[in-house]
Amino acid sequence: MSRWFVLGNGPSLNDTPLDKLIGENTIGMNRIHLIYDKTDWRPTIYMKVDYNPYLKDDWQYNVKLHLDMGIKCYLWEDLKDGYPEGHMHHEYMPTGIGDYPNAVWVKRCEHHDYSWENTKRAKAWHLPRICTAFSTISVAMQIAVLEGATEIYLLGCDLGMTSGKTHFVEGYLPEEAHHREYTEWMNGNFIEAHKLARASSPIPIFNATVGGDLEIHPRVDINEILCHTKS
Ligand SMILES: [Zn+2]
Repeated sequence: MSRWFVLGNGPSLNDTPLDKLIGENTIGMNRIHLIYDKTDWRPTIYMKVDYNPYLKDDWQYNVKLHLDMGIKCYLWEDLKDGYPEGHMHHEYMPTGIGDYPNAVWVKRCEHHDYSWENTKRAKAWHLPRICTAFSTISVAMQIAVLEGATEIYLLGCDLGMTSGKTHFVEGYLPEEAHHREYTEWMNGNFIEAHKLARASSPIPIFNATVGGDLEIHPRVDINEILCHTKS
């Protein structure tokens, strides 16, 4: 058995015993480093497979931090080179991070959100090719499967983006991102990502998040899970 913990960045991470995850297989994503001053835990795998236009000046720092720590990083392939002058997205990502021996480059699949109608066509994962539809959280669970997980435990997957408290730290998103249209869209994507995972994961997924609104996977108590020695 190989259990993997997948960490979303919801407010409940503040109530999650992160130090007890040291030595476990874990996946962290995006701006997870903002919690590093509160714990010695670091993820086994870091991932960033999308780009947030609200945080356009921030991603290189996050990614490089984890690459330089020697952590295996699953990264969206466009982060490697950025976009050349003349490309329609050049202003958002003029330069890339370059290649690293510990980087695994992830391609967007045909279900990615070039349009909402296109995204909705994703009905199942298609491993070993990663399905990038809906949200990074679905990609994280697929990476766990590819890494040999036999069961997945979700943490920090609160949903509830519309409640006003979106992440584990104030200022995770800039003020201009805190508008209802954006948070409702994000929340809807999270729900679809979890439904897709539930429908297509070849291994069991449990929600070990402390509280929150996610009720798509069976719930378990993280403290009880961590009492059982990993096997
Ligand atoms: Zn897909």
